[in-house]
This record gives sequence, structure tokens and C-alpha cells, in this order.
Amino acid sequence: MILLNCGSSRTALPVSEISVRSVPNPNQGKIAKNIILMIGDGMGLTQISAGIYENDNFLNFEKFPFTGLMKTHSYDNLVTDSAAGGTAMACGVKTYNNGVGVDKDGIPVKSILEEAEEKNMMTGIVVTSALVNATPATFMAHQKLRAFTEPIAEEIANSGVDFLVGGGKKYFDRRDSDNRNLSREMENKGYQIEDFITHQRLQDVHPKADKKFVYFTADDDPLTKITGRNYLPYASKMGAEFLKSRSENGFFMMIEGSQIDLGGHATNFKYVMSELKDFDEAIEKVLNFAEKDGETLVVVTADHETGGLTIKEGSKLNKVKPDFSYGRHTGTMVPVFAYGPGSENFTGIFDNTELYRKMKAALAMENKSQ
Ligand code: MG
Ligand code: ZN
Repeated sequence: MILLNCGSSRTALPVSEISVRSVPNPNQGKIAKNIILMIGDGMGLTQISAGIYENDNFLNFEKFPFTGLMKTHSYDNLVTDSAAGGTAMACGVKTYNNGVGVDKDGIPVKSILEEAEEKNMMTGIVVTSALVNATPATFMAHQKLRAFTEPIAEEIANSGVDFLVGGGKKYFDRRDSDNRNLSREMENKGYQIEDFITHQRLQDVHPKADKKFVYFTADDDPLTKITGRNYLPYASKMGAEFLKSRSENGFFMMIEGSQIDLGGHATNFKYVMSELKDFDEAIEKVLNFAEKDGETLVVVTADHETGGLTIKEGSKLNKVKPDFSYGRHTGTMVPVFAYGPGSENFTGIFDNTELYRKMKAALAMENKSQ
């Protein structure tokens, strides 16, 4: 046999080889005071690999000292949706696809965010989808179906979450199912409600002391990064600082790069890469915060992969040749990245429900009996 494809070209790639880029881990083995969970919706290993090669061979993902792999299957399907995937991470139970914060029988299960609130921790959600979308909803709501968006908005309005940034304004103040104005109701409960209409940029909004904070970034789903959305990295930093400055007992925040998934559904590589880069910039802000803070566990992962993305031969640095197998979710495991106190436990292969238990353990919060 002659090896036809080997050795025909021996020019070195213009790719630097650096073996270790991870930053030192502070307070290993200590209890975490805060958790920032970052979810890239639809962000599989290939999305991250392609993102690294499309960005001069470096993204902030490489800074994490601990990595693992997570199984994403739901209760009824090897290929999960974002509702079941979110519920597994938020509540620690496998549920059927489309279930939000409920178990396989449709029974509500408390989320880590709700349990954090019970411990007088502060809580925050920052997303680039509507706030009623499946992933954020699984942390704040309990509905048999993700399609119940107006009931989800009602639960969010009653959730007591301290810092909310995302789209979906119309589900709060121009509802089809009733005439309630949930934004007004939230104002009466001590929220400062701001939106993209009165302040185009979140950067121009100043949170008031002693008020909870909401900034609606769109009526439904926000713009894509390509068409001008600009808030995710800023909101991530702002949220962490807002919650830290107002909490004696720590905080739990979930940040979602929601639209990496939409790029996969559209089998649009530029869409995927621009959303991934935006998410990576949010990671940089969060890691900078956590490095200074020293008591914050940062966990970055995905609910599932979307698009069956591959990197084809002929790819070059900053010019990846992608291919999608189809514009739907896939069942491949997703990577997990962790930094900070407790991060050493996010290694090996584990289930998405285990992510919930690992986060609880990092906070020294008692886990539910199963
Ligand atoms: Mg999502
Ligand atoms: Zn999807």
C-alpha cells in the first residue's frame, strides 16, 4: 500500500503551538461564594474548534484550567431540545423534550436559581434570546411546555430575580392571554424597568440603588450580533458587579449565548461564528471579574450541539471550510469548562443533571435526595 495523502505538503501551518494557556486556579478545594453559569446554546466542540481557528488560534475558552464532557440526552430522546437540556442543568432532573423546569411527569422541580434565592443569594439572568425562551425559562419557571410563553413571563415577573437582561418585552406588557401589564406589576414590586426603546444601549442605563433591575433588549428575540446587537459582554460584566455589590451571601447568575443555536439551525457558519465570538467576549469579561473576585466559580457549557458542524479538509487559519450535516440539534456530548473554587470537580464524562449537583456541591448547598 502506498500512503497517497501523507507528506505531499510539508509547509508548517501558520499556527502557533502553545501547550498550556490556562490561568492558575484560585482557591481550589474551597467553597464557592458565587456561580456564573454560561450556556452557549447549540455550542458543540466543533463550534468552539472552528471559533478558535477562525480567530487566530485563540479564544478565551483556552484559559480554563479544568474541562470535562457532558452527555445531553433528555428523558425521552437521545437528542435533547433546549427546554429539557436547560431543565437538566437548572433543576438536576431529566425531563421530556419541551418540558420547562418540570420532571418527566410534568411536576415542577426547584431550580438552583430558586434554591439560591432561598439562601438569600442574589440572582441574575442575561440572554441574547427572549427572556421567556426555553433556556432562561428553565431557571425561573415551571411549565409543561416551552410554548407557554405568556405563563412563563408571569412566572419570571414573580420570580424575584434581581438582574434581568434579555428580549421578550411584549410577553410582559402587551399580552394576548390577558390584559395585565407585568412590567408595571414588577415596578410596583421594586423593579427598575428599562428597555431598548428609551435607552438604545444598556451602557447608557444606570441602575438605581435598592432596586431590582430589568433591561428589555427587544420585543421578542433580540437582533443578531451581525445586525447590531451589542450588549452581551457588557451585560455580563454589569450583572456580575451589580450582584456582587448588593449581596452579602453571594449570587447565582446564568448567562446565555442564545443565538449560536439559531446559526446552527440556519446552517449559517458566519452567524454561528459571530455569535460564538460574542459569547467568548462575555467569557473574557466574566473571567476577569472572577480572577479579581477569587470566590466565583465560572462554568461554561452548552445544552446540546446544533447543526452537526464539521471542519473540512482545505480549511486554513482564519478561513475554516465548514459543513453542516443538517439544521437540527444533535446528540453529541458537549464540552464543559470550569474556573475558580470547585472547578476541579467538573472533569471526566458526566450527565447534564450532574452539572446541577456539581454546582450545588461547589456552593456547599445540600443536594436533593433522588
Ligand atoms: Mg436557548
Ligand atoms: Zn435549537
